Amino acid sequence: MRKVLHFSSPHELYICDAVVIWCFDARFEPGFRKLLKRIGVMQADSIRIAGGAKSLVSPNYESNRLFLVDQLRIAMRLHGAKRVVLMVHSDCGAYGGLTAFDNDPKKEAEHHSADLQKAAAYIKSVIPELSLEAYFIDFEGVWQIELAGEQLSPDVAVMPTRVKMA
Ligand SMILES: [Zn+2]
Repeated sequence: MRKVLHFSSPHELYICDAVVIWCFDARFEPGFRKLLKRIGVMQADSIRIAGGAKSLVSPNYESNRLFLVDQLRIAMRLHGAKRVVLMVHSDCGAYGGLTAFDNDPKKEAEHHSADLQKAAAYIKSVIPELSLEAYFIDFEGVWQIELAGEQLSPDVAVMPTRVKMA
């Protein structure tokens, strides 16, 4: 092998601020990274899979759901993960895009909100000790979804339930 880049990475193991399950759609990466910073997730164990949290609710393959649960358990064991951030986004190809919702953003948002609640309930049923937050991101901002039995993230709890991030 040959060295193609010189770079120093930290040797120390870390405690992750959260495990983030999100879609790999690059359009929403800058906005979602901004949200993560705002809610105090600097050091994330990042799991990117087409559809994000969709794979916990309606996976293309059951193995995808098992993969995600396995990754959560590994993050808990290796990096002390206690907090999970779930993400789905507008016009996601894994859902068939916005057209799958008749190009109706409201219809899509309602569907994705319900999916995030189901995804959170599923994680809670298999790993009850994790705390969960869920976010829907569209072309204008990020929206937090209220989850039964969970606190809203501290930084946005003071704002209305559906918060548009600048
Ligand atoms: Zn997507």
